[in-house]
Amino acid sequence: MNHQHFLITSFRGQGHLNPTIQLAKRLVWAGARVTYATAVHGRNLRTIKTPISMEGLSHTSFSVNNDDDAVEPSSYEDRMREIKQVGSRNLRELIVSLSEKDRPVTFLIYTVLLPWAADVARDLGVPSAFLSIQSAAVFAIYHHYFNSQSGFYQSCKNKPPTPISLPGLPPLTPEDLPSFLLPTDPNFPVVPTFQEHILTLEKETNPCVLLNTFDALEEDLIKAGLENMKLFAIGPLIPLAYLDYKDHPLDNSFGCDLYDCSTDYLQWLDSKPASSVIYVSFGSLAVLKKNQMEELCQGLRESGHPFLWVIRPSDTSEQEEVNTMMKGRLDGDFGLIVPWCLQVEVLNHKSIGCHVTHCGWNSTLESLTAGVPMIACPQFSDQLTNAKLVQDVWGIGVKARADGEGVVGREEMKRCLDLVMGVTHEGGMRENASKWKALARRAVKEGGSSDNNLRLLWQDWSENVF
Ligand code: UDP
Repeated sequence: MNHQHFLITSFRGQGHLNPTIQLAKRLVWAGARVTYATAVHGRNLRTIKTPISMEGLSHTSFSVNNDDDAVEPSSYEDRMREIKQVGSRNLRELIVSLSEKDRPVTFLIYTVLLPWAADVARDLGVPSAFLSIQSAAVFAIYHHYFNSQSGFYQSCKNKPPTPISLPGLPPLTPEDLPSFLLPTDPNFPVVPTFQEHILTLEKETNPCVLLNTFDALEEDLIKAGLENMKLFAIGPLIPLAYLDYKDHPLDNSFGCDLYDCSTDYLQWLDSKPASSVIYVSFGSLAVLKKNQMEELCQGLRESGHPFLWVIRPSDTSEQEEVNTMMKGRLDGDFGLIVPWCLQVEVLNHKSIGCHVTHCGWNSTLESLTAGVPMIACPQFSDQLTNAKLVQDVWGIGVKARADGEGVVGREEMKRCLDLVMGVTHEGGMRENASKWKALARRAVKEGGSSDNNLRLLWQDWSENVF
């Protein structure tokens, strides 16, 4: 294995960095040499204890040591064009320079928003794989959408859009699809980048896709409808200390937090009874409107349970005012607000009883793996599909119903909290959550499906069949 040198490149976003760094660690522990290239400031990478070789790879004309991306192009199209132009040039130079330094790259792994990375690799004769950091379901949805044979594209364009049936998935209404696919979404211009990913994969003789999921969770999807690709489910890509590898000395956090974090909340959590605390977080990107924060706050108070709520610092003074107002209202023994936390650590704390989440894929997997039922409040992108799966396929949560303005009211929040925290009948969510927790842990253990898939992948890589 030692002759393998993987280059992994990821976009600079928390939900992108966490699973890719986790994959880098697993490859190093399996005996490979790994170089990880991203546009993240060195300060943020300090806590990765595994010997991964770090390279700054800017996707913009900014220096990698400059975290300030304020003057980047404002339109999404311009930003993506800039990222493609600068990123592909820098990636090419990096691969060439590693080769000159006697560290030739034998394999490139790239993630979403960087489809051009595969073109660079192909030009330089380096095989590559796409790491999908979203669910297999969402990968399949994008694949079918851009595959002109399926008629799915037309279903989305119909007025009103019609429900969609895809192999391995329950019927999906437009509200269940990744929001970007509907022309009503303000982020609609993201779509060409996803299309480019699918088209790029189709250019490969043997397209290889790594999925941050596990066979038992999305088996039907992994098998159905994507026969022309080599799919390897190797997840959940979560620190091993939280997958029953107790106190794994090198892997008890992802190791790259873009926000400053303290662990003051641990003592507070320790003081609470088992399964009594509601953990509230909307990931690293979503920003809630002021009235949504107020409704959520009121629903949490009325539920009568203690809660830990992550409210990230904001770039705008207007949002910062809202954050301060919430903090003023809530801090105390009943509700604790923190700017950031080690989410996997929190979710695995015995006091946590429920996760109010935006259903980003990492958060969904982290909650599922910790056996914590969810209240799904999806905001955009794949979060809508994940919420559907959480409620209707895996039975580990409830999707909160939003009003016409997209706001989940206090009564609805209270209804969901009562359901999940067991005040009213909760329909076996907690049992289902325990079942998935056990299956997720089994998948990554030696001989488990994800462990086996990583070995199979390695065999393929070693034979260089791509
Ligand atoms: N996260 C964290 N601390 C927090 C909030 C989030 O460590 O206070 C991590 C979380 O564990 C997850 C990532 O940030 O790995 C968010 O990724 P996700 O895909 O859930 O959502 P996104 O931020 O991409 O919308």
